[in-house]
Amino acid sequence: MEIGFENIVCPVCNESRQIKLLNTFDRFDKSKQMSFKIVECVKCSFTFLNPRPKIEYISNYYQVDGYDPFLTADSKKGIRNQVYLLLRNLNLYQKYSKLTKIHSTPGKLLDIGCATGEFIKKMSENSWKCKGVEISQDARKYSEEKGFDVFSSVDEVPETEQFDMITMWHVLEHVHDLKKTIQKIHNLLKPGGLLIIAVPNIESSDFKQYGAHWIALDTPRHLYHFSGESINNLLKQDNFTLTESWTLFLDQFYNQLMSRNLKYKNIQGWGKLIFGTLKGLILTYIFDKKNASSRVYCFQKGD
Ligand SMILES: [Zn+2]
Repeated sequence: MEIGFENIVCPVCNESRQIKLLNTFDRFDKSKQMSFKIVECVKCSFTFLNPRPKIEYISNYYQVDGYDPFLTADSKKGIRNQVYLLLRNLNLYQKYSKLTKIHSTPGKLLDIGCATGEFIKKMSENSWKCKGVEISQDARKYSEEKGFDVFSSVDEVPETEQFDMITMWHVLEHVHDLKKTIQKIHNLLKPGGLLIIAVPNIESSDFKQYGAHWIALDTPRHLYHFSGESINNLLKQDNFTLTESWTLFLDQFYNQLMSRNLKYKNIQGWGKLIFGTLKGLILTYIFDKKNASSRVYCFQKGD
């Protein structure tokens, strides 16, 4: 095994035996010298990266050109920025309208992985009291400039803070110590509080179609590949109950576009890329949401 890597047992059920599901590459590694293995637990079928980079080495895989989840695009110039802003605002509105339907009275919210703070800004404009957690110092600065208290890790949030809702938008698949993090979240929620988790869906029709080119594999940054069943198996160990799940339009659009680009970029032009993306988007987002590339799950904390 390479230096800086570790082998793990199944993070959901602690079983040590696994079968290989597939090998894939880091999409940013042009040399393709190093492949990564995704395995499936023989006992509970949870799918995860193994071996995986140790926590002290993982930052190497985020320092690549083009990996920019913190794009702010506050400038109004250029068609790409215009499209980005439009999609971002649509996404924020979809998150906001769904969550305020589930929890109709404003309360206290913690957004883990709050990036530049756009989501907590949207919620706070509607009377929610929001704080954030963000590991990236650059991104944290933008959230702080918007006036929010932002912690650099979830461990730093004092347990005297009690929240009505905790959100994790595409964060859980990046977390090394899953069980410790979920326990901490449990302690930070009020009784009956809600935990909202968005993660890619390994049972999606997109994974079946694109296989090793499915963008949401994103090895080695994504350490786990959840299904509705496996995320429920994990969360119910800490007395969380799954209450509902849904799909965000932007997640599905991004996954379709990026997966098609990764798989067909050398053989298709832009026309086919856009047409294929829209076709896949309509088929999945309108007719088959349960098999979408990403799902959002709402869990309620038990006693
Ligand atoms: Zn397992």
